[in-house]
Amino acid sequence: MPELPEVETTRRGIEPHVVGQQVTQVIVRQPQLRWPIPPELGEQLPGRRIESVERRAKYLLLKAGDGNLLIHLGMSGRLRVLPADTPIGKHDHLDIVLASGQALRLNDPRRFGAALWICEDPAKHTLFVHLGPEPLSNDFSGATLYKASRKRKVAVKNFIMDSKIVVGVGNIYASEALHRVGILPTRAAGRISRARYDQLAIAIKEVLQASITQGGTTLRDFVGADGGSGYYQLELAVYGKTGQACPRCGPAYRIRNVVLGQRSSFFCTQCQH
Ligand code: ZN
Repeated sequence: MPELPEVETTRRGIEPHVVGQQVTQVIVRQPQLRWPIPPELGEQLPGRRIESVERRAKYLLLKAGDGNLLIHLGMSGRLRVLPADTPIGKHDHLDIVLASGQALRLNDPRRFGAALWICEDPAKHTLFVHLGPEPLSNDFSGATLYKASRKRKVAVKNFIMDSKIVVGVGNIYASEALHRVGILPTRAAGRISRARYDQLAIAIKEVLQASITQGGTTLRDFVGADGGSGYYQLELAVYGKTGQACPRCGPAYRIRNVVLGQRSSFFCTQCQH
């Protein structure tokens, strides 16, 4: 599933090819995504120029005049920029054809992605209104986590994965950030000190940033018909490493796994408490 770093890498990958371009045509081959692609998209977008490509949580927003094309990659979505006459592959559901002769093409085998036309201020849209701060912004810090967590009994891992608290901290990144700072994922969010939350906020930023930096090397995958998967992972210390040695504590201590909020959580009982 594309996580925040993959979405940000996608944003950076498509941005130079779509910003400043006029949309000449919208081709919908399969409207039944997570929500049906609305007919307004094909009516409103052609003739408009794409002014910017922004990201909020895991949503991409292509601003075009007083509206925005919202794209979500769902479980399996991919965006590529390629010559508009490139033969259509399986699961190529949507083309945004540009005056440059290229097209922004959405491929999504599982069809949990979305493409919507938003006329209002995106910040006021129901999809965005309850979202917490962006993890890489200055609006997110240890203070954010500390303040929101007082008296909360929820496990800290579930707490940092709650998009109302902070957006885009997926399962991998939550497990890795907690291991970096030695906090047990099952620990009650309300019982963690301000100092530890300061460290945790920094660790969250670090793991996401590392993944985005690594993704930067795959930017070319977003252009051209034969791009690679576009997915990558940062070097993982605990995620998916059940039974392996903890990289901090050595071979005597093995990574363990517990299910929290229906998600596997990986940790070391020696260095996380
Ligand atoms: Zn350890």
